[in-house]
Amino acid sequence: MIANNGRLKIAIQKSGRLTDESVNLLRACGLEFEFSKQGLYSPCKNFDLDLLSLRDDDIPEYVQDGVADLGIVGENIVREKRARVETLAQLGYGSCRLMISVPQRSSIRTIQGLRGKRIATTYPVILSQFLRTNRLKADIVELSGSVEIAPTLDVADAICDLLSTGTTARMNGLRPLHTVLESEATLITNKKSLQEKRKKDLIDRLLIRVSGSLQARGKRYMMMNAPASAVPRLKTIIPSLKSPTVVPLAEEGMVALHSVIAEDVFWDVMEKLKKAGASDIIVVPIETIIQ
Ligand code: AMP
Repeated sequence: MIANNGRLKIAIQKSGRLTDESVNLLRACGLEFEFSKQGLYSPCKNFDLDLLSLRDDDIPEYVQDGVADLGIVGENIVREKRARVETLAQLGYGSCRLMISVPQRSSIRTIQGLRGKRIATTYPVILSQFLRTNRLKADIVELSGSVEIAPTLDVADAICDLLSTGTTARMNGLRPLHTVLESEATLITNKKSLQEKRKKDLIDRLLIRVSGSLQARGKRYMMMNAPASAVPRLKTIIPSLKSPTVVPLAEEGMVALHSVIAEDVFWDVMEKLKKAGASDIIVVPIETIIQ
């Protein structure tokens, strides 16, 4: 039986926006497994862990009930399902906002204008919490999809839906009014799995790998040669993780500098380093950073 084979179980979205990045993250953690969007269960070959591919709506509940020890799912789903789970890490992908939008020509300009209006959503729990917090009374029109069409069909005056950017809203003739929730993919677990020593040990090992991969994301390793006399100046240019490594070269008066650098600044930094005397600059990807 898969259910109680003693191995850790992690639930990920079977097929959708989070699937590829979740699989990539687990592979970046050194886990070897075969994954197909048709399969339900993928055993990991080199770690005591099985992957369960599920509908993401079901993941919070499965984790809460201990069917899975871990789950990767959007924070939006965890909140909507009111799941009693523990969040272990924010994973930095699947970023989106749950936003209230209104038709471009609507007279509604602020959230106060939503009083007495109809708001269509697939997130009734989060929306009703939001309305309660803001002391607004409005009708929630609960739909199971295609929410953006509701104002055109005169089913609603506003919608509360997930967006990555405002572009999709504008393309559908809608104007973003207010962000209700910012969400990204999260790694969740339950209390029971954390209390079982064997599972807790496996979760801790996995967490070190996950945070190593997240740390390495968007970073590069940079190596360069320079005259020793240029080091004080070069050090002020390199925004390094701690302090750069400086090693003498066989050639008298020359050194090599090594450092970790963020991907989004490295072109800028490289140009400045070159001007300050660095040469033979090599930049390579980093797989993981264990601190
Ligand atoms: P889906 O595959 O469309 O069911 O989306 C899965 C999850 O991806 C959602 O629950 C959100 O957490 C996240 N997500 C990121 N961007 C978006 C977006 N533009 N629309 C819907 N979901 C998004």
